[in-house]
Amino acid sequence: MNLISLGGEHTEEACIYCKKGPSTVFGFYCKEMSVENYEKLMFKGYRRWGDICYVPVLEKSCCKLISLRCNTILYKPNKSQKKVQKKFARYLNAVKKPTKIKQRMHEILTIPNDLKEKLKNAVEATIEVLGISFEDKLCVIKRNSPNRKKRFGDYSISSAITVHIKAKQNGLNLNLSDVTELLQNYFELEINNSKWRIFSVENGFINLLENEIEEIKLLDENKNENKISAIPHTYKHELVDSDFSQESYELYKEYVKAVHGETPTNLSIEHYTQTACKTSLIKEEPSHEYPYGLGSFHMLHKIDGILVGVSVIDILPSGVSAVYFFYSSKISFLSPGIFSIMKEIEFVQNNLSERFKYYYLGFYINNIQKMKYKGEFYPSELLCPKKFVWVPIENCLEDQSHNFLELSSCCPLTSCLPKDQDMEFSNANILSFINENAKISINSTIYTISSLDQNFRQSALEKLTLAFYYIGKHLFKKFTFSFIN
Ligand SMILES: [Zn+2]
Repeated sequence: MNLISLGGEHTEEACIYCKKGPSTVFGFYCKEMSVENYEKLMFKGYRRWGDICYVPVLEKSCCKLISLRCNTILYKPNKSQKKVQKKFARYLNAVKKPTKIKQRMHEILTIPNDLKEKLKNAVEATIEVLGISFEDKLCVIKRNSPNRKKRFGDYSISSAITVHIKAKQNGLNLNLSDVTELLQNYFELEINNSKWRIFSVENGFINLLENEIEEIKLLDENKNENKISAIPHTYKHELVDSDFSQESYELYKEYVKAVHGETPTNLSIEHYTQTACKTSLIKEEPSHEYPYGLGSFHMLHKIDGILVGVSVIDILPSGVSAVYFFYSSKISFLSPGIFSIMKEIEFVQNNLSERFKYYYLGFYINNIQKMKYKGEFYPSELLCPKKFVWVPIENCLEDQSHNFLELSSCCPLTSCLPKDQDMEFSNANILSFINENAKISINSTIYTISSLDQNFRQSALEKLTLAFYYIGKHLFKKFTFSFIN
């Protein structure tokens, strides 16, 4: 039974999106509803939070929440979405971002650690002979620029000069050439059998050559080492019912704490269940057309077998509707918000049929910057809140004088479409329609308006009239109503 408990209009003084103006929705609880009926509500601008269905009342809200969907048949990732894909592939294959230039610059600008070590040993031995104390700053080595290489080799060591100065400060009267020779001897012992050899010695400078062939070999070894030490990862997703699981709840808590900061009420099991598990949708068994069935599901994203993200989705007759998504902060660098949408779009694409082809991204709010990414899953359409027809987003964004209250006239193709007749009330005799069709449940007994107690009748009629405008003629006949006081 499609029993709905009418809550009426509800206004938040501080809009949850912009924190400025008021924000109003019309909503109701529904324990059970067919996927067909829920989809019909979505085409009137509704979304669900657990078992609560609601539609924004745009005239009474600062932010205009407009339903958005993407036609997955024609979807092609844009530049930034491709980047996310590539980054993810690199992560799985353990391939670091190519930083050839950076790596090359690093090689040019730095001195190999083992060469530094050898120089340090030679300087320590030299000053020990001279009886002075060691300091790091005595070890001075520079890599020569390409245009100096021919004359001075790959590196020039000026430690003999610094040691000579230090010796002088210690009262030792030595020749620079003697100090240089001493250092050179120790250093030669150090670089014996290495890829370095002394190229020339002049004016206290010891110039070195580097054996290039060995250098290349060493770099190759390093490269291999990188590949071996980097660990490839596996990614898998699976579809399960949207039931409660401790593992998902733990991840949800981690997500809420990390992304939204700690808010105790949002961390409770009740809040989690309402957000991610509860649903009004009656599950439909898998069929030829819908191999996973229809209803509410969790898409579990796992890396190396560990749960890192959960997409709460509804599989509906015309496509997948994104309800909620939470993830581990450990994978933030992989842009999980974008990545999960692409995976869900891929799911629709893999199960395409004549009817099943859309991906519903929830609400789009043009004035909220962090929602802009949603509009980038082209080609996408916004639901006109007046006529309830889908309008290409690019038309809607071009001239925004409509203020997102009426969108169909933005596009020549949709401007000539009639309003959804189910939501056309201009010729309807509303009172007689409600009198004829309203089914009211009180303590499990069904009443018509006329059979209601006189005291209760007027308030019931007011609530039902409001509901009639928000849900349309068709569903009004389907639903049985009860009232929340
Ligand atoms: Zn707002």
